[in-house]
Amino acid sequence: MVENKELQQKRSNKIIFVYRIVVSIIMLVSIILVYILNHLGESKEVDAMITQNNLLNGISDSNIMDNSISAEHITSEESLKKLSDWRLMLVNYENEMPKDYIPPLSNIDEARQFDSRAIDSLIQMMLDMNAVGINHVWAQSTYRNPEKQKHLIEESIQEYLEQGKTMEEAETLTARSIGEPYKSEHNLGLAVDFNDVDYAFEKEKAFTWLVENAENYGFILRYPADKEDITKIKYEPWHWRYVGPEYAKEMNDLGLCLEEYIEYLKNN
Ligand SMILES: [Zn+2]
Repeated sequence: MVENKELQQKRSNKIIFVYRIVVSIIMLVSIILVYILNHLGESKEVDAMITQNNLLNGISDSNIMDNSISAEHITSEESLKKLSDWRLMLVNYENEMPKDYIPPLSNIDEARQFDSRAIDSLIQMMLDMNAVGINHVWAQSTYRNPEKQKHLIEESIQEYLEQGKTMEEAETLTARSIGEPYKSEHNLGLAVDFNDVDYAFEKEKAFTWLVENAENYGFILRYPADKEDITKIKYEPWHWRYVGPEYAKEMNDLGLCLEEYIEYLKNN
C-alpha cells in the first residue's frame, strides 16, 4: 500500500511536469507568433509611410508596393475635376448633350448668341484680329438651338437630293458636316463658324492667325484634317471650339483633339 501510494505520487508528479512543459511551449509559441504578426503589421505601415512621402515629393519607385495605385488615385481626382469642367463638355456623334441642358447665353449681335462665360474671349479674339489688320473675318454661325439644327439637316439633305444624290447618300453626306440635334457643339453655345463656312477660309489671313493665336483665347481647331477618323467629322477650317486657354494649349502641345484629350484624362 505504501509503495503503491509512492508510485501514484511519482506518476502524478510526472504528469504535472509534462503538463507544465507543454503549457510553457504553447505560451512561448504564442508569444513568438504574436511578435511576428505585430512586426509584419508595423513594416506594412512603414511601407505605406514611405510611399506617401515619395508621392508627396514626387518620387516614384516601382519597387514600393501600392505606389502606382496611390499615384493613379491622386491623378484621377485631378482628372475627374477636369472631366466635369463645362469647358470640356464632349458633344459628338456618340455623345449627346443632356436634353435639358440650356447654356447661359449672351448676344454677340441681334442674330447671334454665344455662351456667356466664353463670349468675352470670342469678342476679344476678333477685336485683336482687327487690331492687326485682319478685317475680313466674321462669326457666321455660333449658338444654334437644337430645333434649328433639325431644319439645317433637312435643308442639307434636300440640297443633296437636288444634286441627284440618293436619300442614303444625302443623309450620309449631311451627317459628315452637320451634327444631329443635341450632338452638335453649336447647341452647346461654345462653337463658332467663321466667314462663309467653306474651305476658302483656309486661305484667309484670319485662319493663319487663328492657328497661331486662338489657343491664347481658349479656342481650338475642333475638326483637324488628321483627326477625321476620330472626330468622324470632315476637316473644317472654319469651326472653332472654346475650351479655355489652359486646355487649348495643352491639347495643342500634346497634338490631341478633344476626343483624344478626354481619353487621355481618363487614363491618367
Ligand atoms: Zn461649326
